[in-house]
Amino acid sequence: MDHSYRPDTLCIHAGYSPKSGEPRVLPIVQSTTFRYNSAEEMGRLFNLEDDGYFYSRIANPTVDAVEKKIAALEGGVGCVATSSGMAAIFLAVLNICKAGDHVVSCSAIYGGAFNLFNKTMRDMGIDFTFVPPDVTEEQLEAAMKPNTRVVYCETLANPALVVTDIELYAKVAHAHGVPLIVDNTFPTPINCKPFQFGADVVVHSTTKYMDGHAVQIGGAIVDSGNFNWTNGKFPMLTEPDESYHGMVYTERFGKAAYITKARVHLLRDIGCQPAPENAFLLNLGLETLALRMERHCSNAQKVAEFLEQDARVSWVNYPGLKSSPYYKLAQKYLPHGSCGVISFGVKGGRAAAAKFMESLQLASMVIHVADLRTSVLHPASTTHRQLTDEQLAEAGIGADMIRMSVGIENPDDILADINQALDKVNA
Ligand SMILES: *Cc1c(COP(=O)(O)O)cnc(C)c1O
Repeated sequence: MDHSYRPDTLCIHAGYSPKSGEPRVLPIVQSTTFRYNSAEEMGRLFNLEDDGYFYSRIANPTVDAVEKKIAALEGGVGCVATSSGMAAIFLAVLNICKAGDHVVSCSAIYGGAFNLFNKTMRDMGIDFTFVPPDVTEEQLEAAMKPNTRVVYCETLANPALVVTDIELYAKVAHAHGVPLIVDNTFPTPINCKPFQFGADVVVHSTTKYMDGHAVQIGGAIVDSGNFNWTNGKFPMLTEPDESYHGMVYTERFGKAAYITKARVHLLRDIGCQPAPENAFLLNLGLETLALRMERHCSNAQKVAEFLEQDARVSWVNYPGLKSSPYYKLAQKYLPHGSCGVISFGVKGGRAAAAKFMESLQLASMVIHVADLRTSVLHPASTTHRQLTDEQLAEAGIGADMIRMSVGIENPDDILADINQALDKVNA
């Protein structure tokens, strides 16, 4: 596969090139095991001396094709697909951190990732320092410790829609000899390639725009191949792994040391691989990713501009609006658009927000975001309903806040739906 193809072409063609007489469309290889003629051949696979499939917990042809497509889109040397975005985040950090190590993370990250770090991985003995989204270089420097092994952030934080200054995070991480891991779920590689700004590893929840149809839960880890692991801070990559007869990852796999270890060590031991059928569905979504992102962004821009000039709306947050505090950063990191998610408030607070949402006819109320159907969520009456208005304010969530994931329907139908629902609030 020619990786100089443009992203929209890679979406369709990367990862799978059938030979003469083979299926044109990526087949689902629904098999846990693979047959060999000799014990010698199988032994070489087990010793990682040959490439090949032997058990679908480690690698499967359908999953492999999707991994290669995502690696091509991000411009990485390799990718490991996982059963969820959460599994990808967990493995990406665990691959190079053990009890006693420390991670610096932006605080404006997906709520699930925050819980994983702040509770579950803390209980495993890994320490975390959280820094505010608009952190200065000095504050980031101050958060770094001698045992820091990872710096972590999201390109476009869910749900705060903060655009992160990836180059700043990369600069500080690299000055301390540690990699930057970036969750690139919301922009997808169509709108941002974090490796171009110094990120070393990218993670995804493929559940969102990559799938785009809300039919599978999945994740991915992509390795840029650029980080030098041999600075003494990462013995798990540079010292012999006894479970592979003393093999050293950096010696055997070079630039692909990190991503190979994630597969042959962590997928082997933890087993959070995706099902081949889900990989097939993800691939189907990826084929139209570039086309869909363009429409999500142009629709969201129209909705954001409509809401901003409407007297019934109290505030709008979308990085594509000139009024956004993140407009400048968005122009740098997301010049072709950010994503389809907008947050805004309707005048009249919590009750008005609830009335607005219940009055929508086209858009539906769901917990999910980032699929092709326009959907809305009112955090104050759903995910955060136990909080008082004061507690919500502390969490940065207004009682009137509505999160809208703008889909790819005709924009005039989306706008008409919003307009009639706003009328009902004020009726
Ligand atoms: C949804 C999401 C996740 C978690 O992914 P799952 O596939 O639901 O496990 C992680 N990061 C971001 C930014 C997300 O939006």
